[in-house]
Amino acid sequence: MNVENLLRENIKNIKAYSSARDEYKDATAEMVFIDANENPFQTNVNRYPDPQQSKVKECLAEIKGVTTSQILLGNGSDEVLDLLFRAFCEPNQDNVITLPPTYGMYSVLADLNAVEIQSVLLDDNFEPKVEEILTTQNDNSKILFLCSPNNPTANSYNSNKVEELLKKFKGIVVIDEAYIDFSSKESWVSRLNDFQNLVITQTLSKAYGLAGIRLGICYASEFIISILNKIKPPYNVNQLSQDKALERLNDLNVVKQEIDLILKERELLTSELSEISFIKIVYASDANFLLVEVDDANFRYSQLIKKGVVVRNRTNQPLCQNCLRFTIGTPNENKILIKILNQL
Ligand SMILES: *Cc1c(COP(=O)(O)O)cnc(C)c1O
Repeated sequence: MNVENLLRENIKNIKAYSSARDEYKDATAEMVFIDANENPFQTNVNRYPDPQQSKVKECLAEIKGVTTSQILLGNGSDEVLDLLFRAFCEPNQDNVITLPPTYGMYSVLADLNAVEIQSVLLDDNFEPKVEEILTTQNDNSKILFLCSPNNPTANSYNSNKVEELLKKFKGIVVIDEAYIDFSSKESWVSRLNDFQNLVITQTLSKAYGLAGIRLGICYASEFIISILNKIKPPYNVNQLSQDKALERLNDLNVVKQEIDLILKERELLTSELSEISFIKIVYASDANFLLVEVDDANFRYSQLIKKGVVVRNRTNQPLCQNCLRFTIGTPNENKILIKILNQL
């Protein structure tokens, strides 16, 4: 596959904005920087941030076993996903394929970019219907979004199905791995060099406990990353976010302990929820949340709100009738949830 042919015409030859800090990178303390019209007096953030976020990328590259030129960072995964639309999807012409029920941002971003959505529902086991996806695609289908583990269904997709789609889909395959750190499956990052059309997104918003700093990560071929780099806003990851990300990435033991605790709580909560009379199904989870089918989702949702517990009502999503989504909280929060559910 020639990924270059998938690009929009205006993107093929686009020139990146060259920022002051792009022109001169090898700063030393003694140098005088009067190139960017900044205020020279120290506030810790009086200088523009590194537009390439080199330190954060070096850290991630080592952890994930990729090169820094296979990484792009964004203001949340949402910015990364938007850049993919802008690079590959011609407005009012191209389309993308999503597999509902899934993450809502794919369709929001498609609408925003005037890109048509072709939906192919997941099957009854919440797995991709490979044949139907492949027959749905046409020459204008530029991106297929696979969210694995999927939000809100909590399962990871069968690896053989994903691999078949990577081989047969004639566009970019984005695997959204926002929840990969809670999964028993291996990340597709290890297969990056096998597929030119593979793009993986991850985030520091979930397992890494940094939703507030907005840091999303894209792993892809050097070619795709070079294109996204050209079209991203130059200073899209601010200095405070870069600093905080580095601090956390240098403290992976703590992250790992928190993940382990959340996984233990997931198991506990799964078995406790199954005991509750109005809960019909607790779906198996490969993420940090549980999809639960109840007798009447709207009724149970408002009962919970009255008790001060906010959950996500997914009943209007296809295949999710009467389903609520519970994020795994702290041990104490999970106890409160169970206590209150038992009172309803
Ligand atoms: C939460 C979530 C994200 C994270 O988005 P950010 O913009 O990085 O916070 C991405 N994809 C899915 C499926 C999610 O549920």
